[in-house]
Amino acid sequence: MTLEMYRTHKESRTTATHIYDNSRGSALLALARAGILPTKCFNIFLTASDNYCERCGVHPETLAHVIFKCNEFYHTNEDLAARLGLSKELNPALVNETKRLLEAWDRERRKGSAEKLAPEVKG
Ligand SMILES: [Zn+2]
Repeated sequence: MTLEMYRTHKESRTTATHIYDNSRGSALLALARAGILPTKCFNIFLTASDNYCERCGVHPETLAHVIFKCNEFYHTNEDLAARLGLSKELNPALVNETKRLLEAWDRERRKGSAEKLAPEVKG
């Protein structure tokens, strides 16, 4: 997510308030659109060796990496903008898909940190 992208998509960013509902996905989408989704790469306390994606373990966990589900590397800023509802032609189905994807990512993330904070007692 670059500043240039925000300038380019400023118009749709301010007018697309109707894409939000009361879901957790909408809250996460808002963070993603603002460029502040708390991915590991957003965490300044994690070093480059600690910020790998928990799903694939291969690539750093950036916003684009989360949105493109670990495996689509040849995307453009326009592709990312469309998924975030920042493109001129709004695709509500694609934006909804992004919300569900962010919800799934958030659930995995919370599950992972809960296990680390309170390991299950065995025996
Ligand atoms: Zn990954």
